[in-house]
Amino acid sequence: MFRPIRTVWPIRALILAAGLTVGCGRRELARQTWPAMGTVAGVTVPGRAENHLPAYAELARETVREMEGRLSQFNPDGVISMLNRQAGGDSVVLDPDTLHVLALSLHYARVSRGAFDPTASPLVRLWGFHGGAPRATPPTPAEIRDALSTAGYSHVVLNEETREARLALPGMKVDLGGIAKGYAVDAVSAKLKAMGATDFMVNLAGDMRCFGEPSKGKPWRIGVRNPFNTAEIVGVLHLTDGWAVSTSGHYERFVEIEGTRYAHILDPRTGYPVAGMAGVTVVATNATLSDALSTALFVLGPDQALSVLRETEGCDALFIPDRLPLELWITPELQRRFVPDRDWVDAVRVLDL
Ligand code: AMP
Ligand code: MG
Repeated sequence: MFRPIRTVWPIRALILAAGLTVGCGRRELARQTWPAMGTVAGVTVPGRAENHLPAYAELARETVREMEGRLSQFNPDGVISMLNRQAGGDSVVLDPDTLHVLALSLHYARVSRGAFDPTASPLVRLWGFHGGAPRATPPTPAEIRDALSTAGYSHVVLNEETREARLALPGMKVDLGGIAKGYAVDAVSAKLKAMGATDFMVNLAGDMRCFGEPSKGKPWRIGVRNPFNTAEIVGVLHLTDGWAVSTSGHYERFVEIEGTRYAHILDPRTGYPVAGMAGVTVVATNATLSDALSTALFVLGPDQALSVLRETEGCDALFIPDRLPLELWITPELQRRFVPDRDWVDAVRVLDL
């Protein structure tokens, strides 16, 4: 029997979600949340569709659990663990979902010229994330060189016809943490649509996708957190049918070494945690794309991200650099969807794409 840890309804105005806030004007929303993929998953529907919520949430919970079982590197029985154990050796046959996510990861790795890299795991662990030993001092350049020598998406050998994958270097590891939540949100969305759901929002922490309307003629309203004061929002995104949003933030997960904070997103080109970005929010036509790109653009920052944004259809971005006073850099098209909070109207800068 499906028992959510928290069932909240009705919800008025703003709901707090991990990474973002959600609201739908004065209308009421109904929502169920439960722990999944190391964070909190949720399904939200308009108050008028509240009677469907238990069935939607149950299907969503099953789907997310299935995806987590397949895509998590922390599931010892999962195919990703098997692939990682066999690094430097034989290939592994992947199920269609894992094959699809891995192929998309390699695609976004190429598009971002290595800023997104599903093999960054040795670096992530070296800095003390994902079960790596907590560090008293930062890794030495030699340790970073060592970890870099076991990373690199070009060493993933994927045969989409036979569904076989192989990691060419011993010690390599695949980590789909930068894209799997978005993929799971898309998988849940497809199942809910197939079930006949029309108006709903699915989220896994800061990765979300919205369909239909929360109330007649109104878009879903997704608040973007202020990375320097996460109790506050800097503005609201207006999303409609099928649009997704993902946020990568330096406040989400970090370690502190010798008094300096290091974010959980690594620059695979240097081996160091990304410095300079406080948050990146990507709005896209699906959540797999928004999730992968939010991680990639967090690494690239607004200047280097321009070519990726130009080359990728169906996405827009909001960058918040890690400096004060707060600046909100947005792509031109995002002006149609992003309404800054009145305190932050003057902080908005439009990128020259
Ligand atoms: P997100 O919160 O979606 O930005 O993803 C962050 C997670 O992606 C981290 O916890 C790591 O598991 C993984 N990761 C860290 N750096 C990278 C990177 N440069 N490319 C791809 N995945 C990464
Ligand atoms: Mg991501």
